[in-house]
Amino acid sequence: MIPKETVDKIIDTARVEEVVGDFIALKRRGVNLLGLCPFHGEKSPSFTVSPAKGIYKCFGCGKGGAPVNFIMDHEQLSYPDALRWLAKKYSIEIREEELTPEKIAENNDRESILQTLAFAQKLFSETLHNSDEGKIIGLSYFEERGFSKAIIDKFQLGYSPEKNSFFEEELTKSGFKPEFAERAGLITKRDNGTGYYGRFAGRVMFPVHNIAGRVIAFGGRTLKKEKNIAKYVNSPQTEVYNKSEVLYGLYFAKKEIIAKDNCLLVEGYADVISMFEAGFENVVASSGTSLTVEQIKLIRRFTKNVTILYDGDAAGIKASFRGINLILEEGLNVRVLLFPDGEDPDSYSRKVSNSELQTFIDANTQDFISFKTNLLIAETKGDPVKRAGLIKDIVESIALIPDPVIRSVYVQECSRIMTIEEQILHSEVNKLRRKNREKNADKSDVPEGEYSVIKSGELSTEDNTHQQQNNLAELLDDISFQERDVIRILVLFGNHDIEAEVDLEGEKRMHTFKVSQVIEHELNEDHYKFRNTVFQTIFDEVLKENASDNFLDIKYFVNHSNAEIRNFAIDVFETPYKLHDWERKNIFINTEVQQIKLTVNGAIYSLRLKLIEKMKKEISEELKHEISDDKMIDLINQIMGLDAGKRHFAFTGLGRVVIR
Ligand SMILES: [Zn+2]
Repeated sequence: MIPKETVDKIIDTARVEEVVGDFIALKRRGVNLLGLCPFHGEKSPSFTVSPAKGIYKCFGCGKGGAPVNFIMDHEQLSYPDALRWLAKKYSIEIREEELTPEKIAENNDRESILQTLAFAQKLFSETLHNSDEGKIIGLSYFEERGFSKAIIDKFQLGYSPEKNSFFEEELTKSGFKPEFAERAGLITKRDNGTGYYGRFAGRVMFPVHNIAGRVIAFGGRTLKKEKNIAKYVNSPQTEVYNKSEVLYGLYFAKKEIIAKDNCLLVEGYADVISMFEAGFENVVASSGTSLTVEQIKLIRRFTKNVTILYDGDAAGIKASFRGINLILEEGLNVRVLLFPDGEDPDSYSRKVSNSELQTFIDANTQDFISFKTNLLIAETKGDPVKRAGLIKDIVESIALIPDPVIRSVYVQECSRIMTIEEQILHSEVNKLRRKNREKNADKSDVPEGEYSVIKSGELSTEDNTHQQQNNLAELLDDISFQERDVIRILVLFGNHDIEAEVDLEGEKRMHTFKVSQVIEHELNEDHYKFRNTVFQTIFDEVLKENASDNFLDIKYFVNHSNAEIRNFAIDVFETPYKLHDWERKNIFINTEVQQIKLTVNGAIYSLRLKLIEKMKKEISEELKHEISDDKMIDLINQIMGLDAGKRHFAFTGLGRVVIR
């Protein structure tokens, strides 16, 4: 259990823009920040972060919440684990019981696997630095490669000893269950059923971190020269590791990728680390797999620009053309850098100085058309058929680019390089796009990225009024609208002060209450039970806390561990009634705050009126004739203790009441 004060401290400290900013690039848009939603694939940003309100909301998929909810959703963590994650980020100490093996067993499986992987990483690092075998074999290898102590520590490199049972023994000593180490891909059961053997025995270890910095897998490199031993062994797919969704180094590179607005893509672990050593920190690797769409989407969270760094091996480069097309298709700009023959980023960065490397990169980075053309043009010399093939190949790539402006720029470029009329290329590109669209038509309903940013939650005033009028009849017949308004006010303004008259043994006095107390008083007087169970749950919780003078505020509900309550709170916080942007929403809320009495009374009155209307309907049906409105008003005035014969209120149809 995390003590309540610590929970409060974590929630108060965590800044939504900082937490979300760890996972996606955010651009300022007015008072808010905007980015690409990490929860659903999108190409134009509809993910809004409001630093002032401390919440995020995606207008595409509807996900929203406070920092803790973001971490729960993104990192697949429970509520307490998400709090622990935030505590770690903000260096807030949590005083709770030490994690004993028994305690670990209680945690969910995913967490146990991650803790086992973290244990393995520490063990391998300690072995690298503190054992003779580690120092002689592992450390000297890394030093030979030019990795500094700082870089070895940063990437948490390690060494797994030759002795096969080493890992299993250490595991048991520390009270970890082999079951989770097996599920983490660290050990495998022996065929004869006697214990396990370590997957990585006798290898230098490269931990693979997820975007939040936790170790989720390993790559192990052997230093033996024997041909029958695989140079690299990687973790298998596990419950916490899907290699097609992970980029090696991204956790360390993401800040610099945002700063440089460019992501360098290399092939292997050593390439990433060497580039870091050379001072290039915006670099990641798709190690162990050819580039996947998921990996490109990860990059897209931070930048739209990718530079692929290739070693000078022509066969490998041709095989990677598919990767270029995938990147283009995801709407990213791709540039390519080819290292001299026989060199890769790792070897070349060690050969030249850092500034020479920078000069080399600047001078030799090409756009993909020049790159492809330069690479293939030699083969097409004097062969018109091959030349046509190359053009077709490039046109196919261009046709994948979603943005028409960028497409057109590339058409010009291709026209120039291949000396072919622009118009011909344009019509080819368009033909291909039509074909692709038809092909995709049955795959997805609406082409992604062609939505406008304005979604349901952001409808303009006019649209909304219109829609509300259409729904009016429906609303009028349904009490849930009035219930919603009362709970909305309770959640938004429950802890605000309100002046109310109290009758103390005949003496009337003004007294300051909390809004939630007034609502509690009014509804309890009616013995009101909410039809909607979520609303009743919120109400019950408010009553319980009111009893101990703890008045819940909007922040409490926005952070609620119950998703239904949380989503409701975000919804009302985000979209009061008919608003277009956050600033105006604030104005709206301010008006309600200034007239808090009217707001509260109006909502309760509307709810009562609704109840009475229902009663009236029932009574009328029973009596077989209708009660007149005047009679009705009298009835209400009586109930509300108001002067008879006067029409104090008019029902506006929006659950809002205006005093006349
Ligand atoms: Zn979304």
